Amino acid sequence: MPITHIDLPYLHNALEPYMSAKTFEFHHGKHLKAYVDNGNKLIAGTNLENADLDTIVKEAAKDPSKAGIFNNAAQVWNHNFFFKCMKSNGGGVPSGKIAEMINASFGGYQKFADEFKNAGLTQFGSGWAWLVLDGNQVKIMKTANADNPVAHGLKPLLGVDVWEHSYYLDYQNRRADYLTAFVDKLINWDFVNSLLG
Ligand code: MN
Repeated sequence: MPITHIDLPYLHNALEPYMSAKTFEFHHGKHLKAYVDNGNKLIAGTNLENADLDTIVKEAAKDPSKAGIFNNAAQVWNHNFFFKCMKSNGGGVPSGKIAEMINASFGGYQKFADEFKNAGLTQFGSGWAWLVLDGNQVKIMKTANADNPVAHGLKPLLGVDVWEHSYYLDYQNRRADYLTAFVDKLINWDFVNSLLG
């Protein structure tokens, strides 16, 4: 099975009170597992059957007949990445390489934080907000449904899920409060810095 259901990098209750064990029970245990199971069913017998997840996402993105594979494999990629983007006692002003890049590209942390939250808030319906590497700059983008920067040849550095299933149990319709908690309390900047070598 090339698409695997990875373990969370922390306990289910590690991010409370900002993201509850109940949310992870559904989000990791049921939503992600469904994407894994459906992805594996759909790649069976195709030329992507033994490919790694990155390759499945990139190849399926180029082939409209593989939209179902793309949707499920990209959602696995997105969730694997998103869960690593958080830690307990995270968030706030970063240090290291990413701090320098944010200051150079946005003119300061607060402008980045405002723009990132706004991208998540203004993504109509389901989707994702991202910080991506673009040459020597970092920039913010948003994508709909399962779409992600990898499908567009870009390197994601940070991503947040704005599908309702990611915040409804803890925040109901208050997506802005969820995004504020993500930025102020949950971002794992050590993981982001590790992606910059
Ligand atoms: Mn999700």
